[in-house]
Amino acid sequence: MAFSKQDERFMRLCLKLAKKGEGKVSPNPLVGAVLVRKGRIIGKGFHASFFGPHAEAEALSKKDARGATLYISLEPCVWYEGKRNPPCAALAARCGVSRVVIASKDPNPRVSGKGIAYLRSSGVKVDVGLLCEEAQELNECFFKFAKTGEPFVAAKLAQSADGFIGVKGRSRIWLSGRQFDYHSHALRNRHDAILVGINTVLADNPRLTCRKKGGRNPARIIIDSRLRIPLGAKALENAGKEKVIIATTSLRSLEKQKQLEKLGAEVLVCGKRKVELRRLLRRLPEHQIYSVLIEGGAKVLRSALKEKCIDKLIVAISGKKIGSKQAIRSPFALPFLKKRLRRLKVEKMGSDTVYCGYLRLP
Ligand SMILES: [Zn+2]
Repeated sequence: MAFSKQDERFMRLCLKLAKKGEGKVSPNPLVGAVLVRKGRIIGKGFHASFFGPHAEAEALSKKDARGATLYISLEPCVWYEGKRNPPCAALAARCGVSRVVIASKDPNPRVSGKGIAYLRSSGVKVDVGLLCEEAQELNECFFKFAKTGEPFVAAKLAQSADGFIGVKGRSRIWLSGRQFDYHSHALRNRHDAILVGINTVLADNPRLTCRKKGGRNPARIIIDSRLRIPLGAKALENAGKEKVIIATTSLRSLEKQKQLEKLGAEVLVCGKRKVELRRLLRRLPEHQIYSVLIEGGAKVLRSALKEKCIDKLIVAISGKKIGSKQAIRSPFALPFLKKRLRRLKVEKMGSDTVYCGYLRLP
């Protein structure tokens, strides 16, 4: 199917609208929809909250859609859990839309292709695949979970020009600049949880909150095989109101577990002597976590790479050098990034060069 320049313009708008739902709709997908007649936009919508209306319903609401074209960033649903509204494929057909342009099929094997088939059987012309890669990337978390039942995992880090991520025994060294820091908070907003190792908590005592304007705090996960986390750690503030999960092992002290639970944290035992990341990840959906952003430190990143847990990598390479004997080498040297990352994007952010790509495609 050849799409026109105009088709592409409207689909780009769908993707832009969809993005507005970031941090608000998980585990639903981000979806944007645009209704067009004779080249003019007559309706727009996006999925704005988990229990809210679907993007298509917003775009179609109170408009005369007869003979119009509906652009959608994802295949419309044929089955709607809410039951208050008809499924979007039926709604579009009922409203008299004559053509539907879809960026990507639904990845869920139980419903994939059904929305498209429904529309076609109702006499609607359907064209699929416009800006498909972009649409999949936008919904990378949703795609991974729909296909595998496991959370999407991104790892984010900053490293020095000479390939190090820190110095042993010292707290965090500020390698990246303000722009990447800002980007990091947007990433926190996009994922359901942030994950760090206990060494990061002990060295830096981070809050692990999202400071993006209009953003929300993701859940916090700390890998701590012996429950060494201090009860006064900033990462435990508001535990109970905000989800805090400590992943530990059979080596933990039961007494400390009780104290942490009293503060509102959830303690999950995921291994005998070492926290097995895969085991932890598989358990996260039952805690409403469908995507995870790993932020370090070196030990956790290395385990995640070894256990093949990482779907996407975001690495900022700073202009600064560390060059100390005690420096900790990054597991992701530049040749590794260039060779292993698929759909690699290299972007300049202030003084940093950011490498972003997939170890496993969505
Ligand atoms: Zn729908």
